[in-house]
Amino acid sequence: MIKSEVYDPYQNMLDVLDEAARILSYEPNDYLALKYPERELTVAVPVEMDDGNIQVFTGYRVQHSSSRGPCKGGIRYHPGVDLNEVKALSAWMTWKCAVVNIPYGGAKGGIRVDPSKLSQNELERMTRRYTAAILPILGPERDIPAPDVNTNASVMGWIMDTYSMFKGYAVPGVVTGKPIEIGGSLGRKEATGRGVTIVTDEIAFRKSIDMQKSSIAIQGFGNVGGTAARLFYEKGYRVVAVSDVNGGLYNPNGLNIADISNYAQQSGTIKGYSAKGVTEVTNNELLLLPVDVLVPSAMENQITEEIARDIKAKIIVEGANGPTTVEADKILYENGVTLVPDILANAGGVVVSYFEWVQNLQAIFWDEHEINSMLKKIMLRSFDEVYNISKQNNVSLRMGAYVLALDRVVKAKKIRGMFP
Ligand code: GLU
Repeated sequence: MIKSEVYDPYQNMLDVLDEAARILSYEPNDYLALKYPERELTVAVPVEMDDGNIQVFTGYRVQHSSSRGPCKGGIRYHPGVDLNEVKALSAWMTWKCAVVNIPYGGAKGGIRVDPSKLSQNELERMTRRYTAAILPILGPERDIPAPDVNTNASVMGWIMDTYSMFKGYAVPGVVTGKPIEIGGSLGRKEATGRGVTIVTDEIAFRKSIDMQKSSIAIQGFGNVGGTAARLFYEKGYRVVAVSDVNGGLYNPNGLNIADISNYAQQSGTIKGYSAKGVTEVTNNELLLLPVDVLVPSAMENQITEEIARDIKAKIIVEGANGPTTVEADKILYENGVTLVPDILANAGGVVVSYFEWVQNLQAIFWDEHEINSMLKKIMLRSFDEVYNISKQNNVSLRMGAYVLALDRVVKAKKIRGMFP
């Protein structure tokens, strides 16, 4: 991973925001407060390891904005996590929730840790201690975490239980992406990947591209990339390349995603998978393959200036948060590459998180068909709004999404007024 000192993700976000404000003819005063997260919490997370030694990890929870509702966003466990990254990710959640018009602000959390080096018990103890440390700022009306890179439903279950133990009663609405058995929502696990496929189909439709005849490369085989790959494959689309942290697989005639998913489930990686016609590629090589659609679904700052120049894909759909640097974004736009931005493309996860939270608050449950059709409706409505704004202003879809989001958040702030 490229260090955030080189590509500062928060600065990246501010640069795009300033440009959106210019298009909206906003004065600096109109959105100055949004350049600063409302609350940044850094916590020490001491954990007793299985061998009896103590290790202290650093954890963060940043609440960027609560103007449109409770703060919302995932928690990631990754050795590259730092405050600046979490700040950027929290702001992107504010814009993401505003783009899809769900009543949330933005937050993000993380622990600087390589979770693959921890046992299940160590992981649980670390999660519970971290939850206790950030507990004063959590709550269904305040801040609602969810899964992100290297966290999953089990981790959310421990967060829900720890919070509930402190309260003295079960509070399912404090976290989303939980196991179904304790109030999780049907369709939540696949939601981000499903959203990615919905917007991919829509952009292809608008560009008169036949997806059945197109090739797709997906960077990342986690909850987002892995699900998107499977759903594309089930639609009969030709997924020619996939990758995870250990490297990628390529077959210009199309990969058997069902087979690769089974392999990955057993081995914990796609590395080592072999089949006729499949060759290995690096993560960088995957980005440069001669494909129609590229879906970066791993980490930030993958598509840099140098890579952007050589990208052959006509369409990029950002499954990950912040996979493209500001400089790369400009080059892609000039080169006529159509990019569906992260704050729209991967919003499916938080949309179904919203459904989960609503179900928890009302203690009712919807079936998967209802969830998926409401998800589709929101994704397509948001896509249409972003698309129209970008056409009206003759700007990229990313700028269209930021203009829509910033306008919604600034309007909410103005109506509420400045306290005191
Ligand atoms: N971590 C996901 C994201 O980046 C989901 C956040 C949520 O559901 O709150 O959008």
